[in-house]
Amino acid sequence: MEPYSISNCDVIIAGTGPGGATVARELARRGKKVVMMEWGPGGPVRGNIWQYITELLIPGKSLLVTHGMLSMVRGITAGGSSMFYYGTCFPVPLEMLKSYGVDIQDEVEEARRELPIAPLKDEMFTPMAGRIQQGARQAGFEWNRLEKFMYQDRWKPGMPFGYYGDRNAVKWSARMYVDEAVSLGAVLMDRAKVSRVIIENGKATGVEYYLAGRLCAISAPVVVVAAGGIGTPMILRNSGIKEAGFDFFFDPLITVAGTISDVKTGNDEIPMSAGTLLEDDGYMMTDLPLSRLTHFMFTGQVLRLHRLFSFRSTARIMIKARDSLGGRITDGGGVRKHLSREDRDKLLHGCENARKVLKEAGAKDIYKTWYFAAHPGGTVKIGHLVDSTLKTQYDNLYVCDCSVIPKAWGLPPTLTIIGLGKHLARHLTEEKGKKVTSSEDQVTRG
Ligand SMILES: Cc1cc2nc3c(=O)[nH]c(=O)nc-3n(C[C@H](O)[C@H](O)[C@H](O)COP(=O)(O)OP(=O)(O)OC[C@H]3O[C@@H](n4cnc5c(N)ncnc54)[C@H](O)[C@@H]3O)c2cc1C
Repeated sequence: MEPYSISNCDVIIAGTGPGGATVARELARRGKKVVMMEWGPGGPVRGNIWQYITELLIPGKSLLVTHGMLSMVRGITAGGSSMFYYGTCFPVPLEMLKSYGVDIQDEVEEARRELPIAPLKDEMFTPMAGRIQQGARQAGFEWNRLEKFMYQDRWKPGMPFGYYGDRNAVKWSARMYVDEAVSLGAVLMDRAKVSRVIIENGKATGVEYYLAGRLCAISAPVVVVAAGGIGTPMILRNSGIKEAGFDFFFDPLITVAGTISDVKTGNDEIPMSAGTLLEDDGYMMTDLPLSRLTHFMFTGQVLRLHRLFSFRSTARIMIKARDSLGGRITDGGGVRKHLSREDRDKLLHGCENARKVLKEAGAKDIYKTWYFAAHPGGTVKIGHLVDSTLKTQYDNLYVCDCSVIPKAWGLPPTLTIIGLGKHLARHLTEEKGKKVTSSEDQVTRG
């Protein structure tokens, strides 16, 4: 493809998590001129603790805390949260989406053919994961290996899991789609924070953004906002869609940990190797080894100071719940949501079951950690603020990320979001000539 400048692009995509990166990659593959605007940095995946802290743990930016002291993280970097996610793939609730007029079966099948999705092979399933599985089965749970987004043929024994970003490229992340889009001619403008979509006569015509403290603007015939469950409603509100950012989910979680001294864990433990979904109880349970830093944070938060350095003998289970919709995102990007009594009860019920599992696995000194969350979504729901093509009330303005999920969730959402990204790309190119045409000139202000 001929190089092009940002002044004549076909589509602007704001945000490059699994939603934005998928749309960018799909459109670039179809020869469209795509500009990706990303608040966080691009550049090489360093996979070190500095990258983890600066892109996932900055208070008020990537680490958001509710009044109930529930911490929620999101990755502010090219690739979004998938840079730091646990690489677990969960089946897409196709029927639920169909009931909202969104049929992404073909797109999900295509994604499954293209991506490295499979349960872990035996060599990657560690003794600690096996021990927890054994305990769970003895406690009566159907505890099976989960599918992972991992290039297992690239993995070598002892390789650390990419908690801090995976420089060995074993764990698939949306950064790979960003890189692919760039290799096909798309432009990645990193460190560019989109503030609003420019609307003229009921149509999106471009975006305003901050780059190095300067307010700039760029035009395009189509704008896709994909800034994640928190970032997207903020951009939409600034663009006139004031109802965005209410009644959302964030899939709260608690972990329960214990000491198993005769099995040692290391950096090569893979989180969420196996687990179980208790659909009727509204939560899932999986093994959850953590990075040393997160182990430190989780353990310190509940003052189990004597356990801070027992990282290698800690067996941990995560309980992740489907919380009821509620709360609001503040205009400043804060998260306001109280866990309902029902949601707390779900998590505590899960904690009791996790204790049983750990006891069966031979764990001692069992304790639970504080509430945490990592999947904000449902802030711009299909059927409310976007239609089944993911279009907003404004022409040429679309949303594609975890925000559009229409119902309470509680599951790893990445495959669903990728399916939605492919769905939107198809929709945009099927309407080629109408939606995706050449752009206006770039305007720079300020
Ligand atoms: C620790 C952790 C573990 C997880 N594990 C799993 C797992 O195992 N399986 C799974 O399926 N999911 C997992 N998730 C969740 C998953 O990563 C997210 O649900 C997914 O990344 C959401 O994709 P998205 O496209 O909606 O948004 P995001 O990934 O949040 O991407 C949004 C992007 O928009 C950018 N952005 C935000 N605001 C702006 C702005 N104003 N201008 C420009 N850019 C902006 C952000 O920097 C980011 O790149 C995990 C998440 C975390 C944090």
